[in-house]
Amino acid sequence: MAVNTAINYRLPQVEQLLQHPSLQTYILALSRPVVTEIIRSQFALIRQSERFQVQGVEGVDVLAAVIKACEVQQSKRQVRVINTTGIAVHTNLGRSPIATELWDSAREVNTGYSNLELELATGKRGGRNGLLPTLVNAWLGAEDCVIVNNNAASLYLILHALAAGKEVIVSRGEQIQIGGGFRIPDILALSGCKLVEVGTTNITTSDDYINALTDNTAMVLMVHQSNFSIQGFTESPDIQDVAKRLPEHVQLVVDQGSGLSSEQYANSETSLSRYLHMGADLVCFSGDKILGGPQAGIIAGRQDLTQVLLKNPMMRAFRAGRIVLALLEELLIKKLNQEPSGEGVAQHTLLRCRHTRILADRLTVKWSPYAEVVSMEMQVGGGSIPSETYACFGLALSLPGKAQQHLDAFRVMPTPIIAYLHADRLMLNLATLLDDDLPRFEAQIEHYLQRFLSIG
Ligand SMILES: *Cc1c(COP(=O)(O)O)cnc(C)c1O
Repeated sequence: MAVNTAINYRLPQVEQLLQHPSLQTYILALSRPVVTEIIRSQFALIRQSERFQVQGVEGVDVLAAVIKACEVQQSKRQVRVINTTGIAVHTNLGRSPIATELWDSAREVNTGYSNLELELATGKRGGRNGLLPTLVNAWLGAEDCVIVNNNAASLYLILHALAAGKEVIVSRGEQIQIGGGFRIPDILALSGCKLVEVGTTNITTSDDYINALTDNTAMVLMVHQSNFSIQGFTESPDIQDVAKRLPEHVQLVVDQGSGLSSEQYANSETSLSRYLHMGADLVCFSGDKILGGPQAGIIAGRQDLTQVLLKNPMMRAFRAGRIVLALLEELLIKKLNQEPSGEGVAQHTLLRCRHTRILADRLTVKWSPYAEVVSMEMQVGGGSIPSETYACFGLALSLPGKAQQHLDAFRVMPTPIIAYLHADRLMLNLATLLDDDLPRFEAQIEHYLQRFLSIG
């Protein structure tokens, strides 16, 4: 259909416009009903406009308005983006990518029926955790595990199932807010527990915990302070001591958060197995973040406690689905076998830091005179929270015009490149640039630079 460039006082029919070749990609991307609705609402806007009532409207203008509205909707869709922020576990960028090999390996079991709740050996109904407790045991030395949808759910379930109606002791230094509106005091109240605060924001001793014990105490909850960043959480001095001095009916639970399981790249961090070794009855953490699996909440520790969690009615609301369970199973097997796809994005990013100099040099030569090598720092993640940093290299692009404009333009490329600004220059940290993204990253930037090169 050719768009009528003549001035019309009547709009085309919706059906007719839907046939237009330039709208076909939006129908594929957004669905026909959504595009239809966009056309209708654009028509309504045009009809209301004074200009339309006085002068009519040109067909091309109608089409342009519809395309623009489609673009706005399309930009809301999830797309792969290229991370050059230098923050490996980035809250706004989906936290952790899942290794391609890991994703592929969970395909077969998820695209057919599976033995999710069927014991193949006996033909009886089984639990949905399958091999996971065995794997978690081999990994952390924990007796058992429970898998829920995210770590916020882990915390809620633990508190609700083990401490509802009772007191839970938490250090004042750990009354933190983790992400959008998730506050420890709120979650305690919601789960039906009574919060007992001890210590000060910077010092809490084991005596503080012990002195706060009453007959109604159910739990001591320790929450990793640095959110999911790897940073100077100086070894809590007295976990072992607290664990030893707690009476039998009081559980020691640690919300470790990140899923860090080895100290190899964060000397100052306490790992999951170390917490368990020091006497934590349960630890909980996220399945993505440092672990590099799907988002999930993993609770590991004493089996008599996990059994109580599994029997709680809220478990039904929080239990993880088969996709998550299959991915976690694959991840842990690969992790235990020390395969690269079991390592998680933080570890990969850290390794990549070493190669960023060579890459930065190569790209600078290619993109001269606009690019310059800059030494930068990579962070595992943490938003506003200060964290340990690792040296790496990246590029500063100095392009004609405003840096902000280029930042915005990079963000709307076919595969958006998420960069940042520093001293009015566009900065690209190469540590978080995934290997698979490198060809697209180079091609898109080269295409972008063409226009400046052609100007001279
Ligand atoms: C990230 C984090 C949470 C929340 O985990 P989600 O998987 O986002 O629900 C809870 N506690 C700590 C310590 C965390 O770091």
